[in-house]
Amino acid sequence: SFKGLTSSSQEKRAERQKSLEPSFKLVMIGDSGVGKSCLLEKLLDLSSTNAFISTIGVDVRTHVINVNGHAFKLQVWDTGGQQRYRPVLSSCYRNVHGIIMVFDVTNVKSFANLPQWIKEVKEFAPNQGVVPKLLIGNKSDLADRREVKQEIAEAFAKEHSMSYIETSAIATTNIREAFMALLQSNND
Ligand code: GDP
Ligand code: MG
Repeated sequence: SFKGLTSSSQEKRAERQKSLEPSFKLVMIGDSGVGKSCLLEKLLDLSSTNAFISTIGVDVRTHVINVNGHAFKLQVWDTGGQQRYRPVLSSCYRNVHGIIMVFDVTNVKSFANLPQWIKEVKEFAPNQGVVPKLLIGNKSDLADRREVKQEIAEAFAKEHSMSYIETSAIATTNIREAFMALLQSNND
């Protein structure tokens, strides 16, 4: 019957939805231009599957990452840049397993804005106290343009219960290490 068909297609949809559910949800935040999308692109490389959904104010990328032979379904919410809305923000931070905050070591303003991002996390991520948080200082390849000292960033991260790592999306330095650190701290 028509009704039968409907419920079966609903079941199929539910099944598909379930298979799309991430086993690990990361949210990536930080000022526009710090290199979030580049970092993500380098992490994913060509071997990973990559679904891409664009919504208002946030891009969601789902892909499978291989860690020591185990496949992780990773969902990364890449935020920032566009205008941001409360409903988007709350779904962005819901059930999050890890928070990555990125600034640009050659742009002191992106570092000075971190307290704003921390404020947002505290407001929207109810579990933020127990979720692993990682601070990334990106663009470490631009040594002669550095505006934020490593020690300063490290101290800031420590003060806010975050790990700290410096990366370069261009030179491909520490990218995998950064994501691995977060995946592993979640399994502790
Ligand atoms: P997003 O707005 O945070 O997603 O930033 P994007 O990933 O779009 O990067 C912004 C700009 O910074 C682009 O022009 C990138 O090429 C550049 N960029 C990103 N990461 C690095 C890096 O590690 N080193 C250098 N030199 N440039 C970078
Ligand atoms: Mg981006």
